[in-house]
Amino acid sequence: MITSVSVLDVHQRPLRNLRLSVTDRCNLRCQYCMPEADYLWLPREDILQFEEVDRLVDQFLALGVDKVRLTGGEPLLRRDLPALVERLSAKAAIRDLAMTTNAVLLAQAAGDLKAAGLHRLSISLDTLQRDRFVKLARFDELPRVLAGIDAAADVFPGFKIDSVMIRGVNDDELIPLMEFARARGAEIRFIEYMDVGGATTWSGDQVVSRREMLDTLAAHYGPIAPLHEDSSAPADRFRLPDNTVFGIIASTTAPFCASCDRSRLTADGVWYLCLYAARGVDLRGPLRGGATDEALRDLITSVWHARTDRGAEARLGLRGRSPLIPVNTLRRDPHLEMHTRGG
Ligand code: SAM
Ligand code: SF4
Ligand code: SF4
Repeated sequence: MITSVSVLDVHQRPLRNLRLSVTDRCNLRCQYCMPEADYLWLPREDILQFEEVDRLVDQFLALGVDKVRLTGGEPLLRRDLPALVERLSAKAAIRDLAMTTNAVLLAQAAGDLKAAGLHRLSISLDTLQRDRFVKLARFDELPRVLAGIDAAADVFPGFKIDSVMIRGVNDDELIPLMEFARARGAEIRFIEYMDVGGATTWSGDQVVSRREMLDTLAAHYGPIAPLHEDSSAPADRFRLPDNTVFGIIASTTAPFCASCDRSRLTADGVWYLCLYAARGVDLRGPLRGGATDEALRDLITSVWHARTDRGAEARLGLRGRSPLIPVNTLRRDPHLEMHTRGG
């Protein structure tokens, strides 16, 4: 039995929060994430089997991780996902087991995910308008997304809705989305548009800042009170005068790198220490090459000890900021994409 230890990086940030991408594939093409029709996909033989994910997760848990989030691509495209959830939910060291999904396939899956032991669910939803959904995500899937949300409301009460706000695209839906979420008992989080890999059409003037969102909401609802919370969670949370709580993730204008305890494992076992990192650390190679558990933990520990990443903060200081990675570079390496790293 391994007892968990706390591993700190150069800025004294613990290794605590692991985002597990279970596939790089997706059934939508959101313009801020996967704007093109086709992509270079990770080779199938490289995708980690559930037993391999399980073994890597155990090493992370032994080093202090206690929050795991399944993501993608679209995690519900991964065959037999509830079986992975069941394995993970059996691990007592995981205090918080969550998933982020676009909800297209959720209506059929919600009950199985709950039965398998998933704790929490976040659903991405950027618009309530069907024609706009098609423009934003290329597929006419809003009806299935809404059915998925209804199913989630039944089995994951208090689920979250995440909405990326883009000026001139959906920023007129702040209030309809707020109303939609609270009518379903969900907590909504508005996300600033980020210039991560994949966001090849990003430009600074499309970013709706936290300040602007709060002003729009306050003009409609009245005074908004911040909730003072001591946590490393990315969302700042607020309260409307009627006590409705919501969040804003100001990753672009007010990054939270100083307390970032998140890292990301791609579906093929490459470990990224930051959403903006140029390179990751291959864990699949040692895993399949016969490394012992101890050797894997030593590798993870030494990499985290040396972590200096503060990607979004570094981007803040740039003048004439443009998308992080040019499209031709992205085409050469799928690992640079947001849909591979999992957001
Ligand atoms: N496919 C699933 C989904 O959309 O919920 C999970 C993966 S997706 C990459 C995870 C999250 O990243 C989504 O909530 C999405 O809105 C967010 N995201 C992707 N690109 C983004 C960008 N350029 N700026 C802000 N958020 C982004
Ligand atoms: Fe949209 Fe998520 Fe798919 Fe990216 S991975 S295109 S955010 S649904
Ligand atoms: Fe963490 Fe990197 Fe995001 Fe900063 S930019 S919050 S260091 S993942």
